[in-house]
Amino acid sequence: MSHLSEDGTYICSMYTPVAETRLVIASDNKGKIKEIKEIITGATLLSLSDVGFDRVIEEPYHTFAENAHAKADALYRHCGLNVFADDSGICVAALDGKPGVDSAHYSGSRNDEQNLQQVLREMEGVADRRAWYMAIICLIWEGETYYFEGRCDGVLLHEKRGTGGFGYDPIFVPDGYDQTFGELAPAVKNAISHRGKAVRQMAAFVNEQLARR
Ligand code: IMP
Repeated sequence: MSHLSEDGTYICSMYTPVAETRLVIASDNKGKIKEIKEIITGATLLSLSDVGFDRVIEEPYHTFAENAHAKADALYRHCGLNVFADDSGICVAALDGKPGVDSAHYSGSRNDEQNLQQVLREMEGVADRRAWYMAIICLIWEGETYYFEGRCDGVLLHEKRGTGGFGYDPIFVPDGYDQTFGELAPAVKNAISHRGKAVRQMAAFVNEQLARR
């Protein structure tokens, strides 16, 4: 809508397009959100609860990408904003890539300690200890779908060391280091982790898109 001001200036105040800078993450995990906020500078990061999404999103697929897409798609259909979701897990060479997409419930329960012990049991007496973490991010940006991938290679110990991190971190030693992810400082883990790598790639893309506006 436009009108003339008292001094005759032509004013056009409404319908001026406002660039959308909100970005919704398919998570309510405060730690994850804080970490990502520090990397994505130009966007306002919103959580699931910020957009009133309270359903459990199923992850029924056999690949990280499909599960990440299922989460991002459900969220996009809910709010119509720019959204992203990640899916991650640990893959063990001697177990043919398992637990993989089943990392969060490998033992049959969603319990980190039980899942870690299940992997240790299956790896008893196995010499090849190679493993890698994977993270895939699915971003739906202005209606288009993009994927970003991060991988971190390392080896599995025979017993736990360290109390930091979560999940399989106390038995995972990244290549080039002597300490486990459970012993390394969070900043070190973030700098080399699968998730850190995927998030930084997505952040570079988002920051570039925002800078173009
Ligand atoms: P989600 O992608 O947050 O659903 O995580 C899947 C599962 O993979 C987690 O529950 C953990 O068991 C495992 N996982 C993923 N990333 C990490 C990590 O950085 N450290 C330890 N475990 C992880």
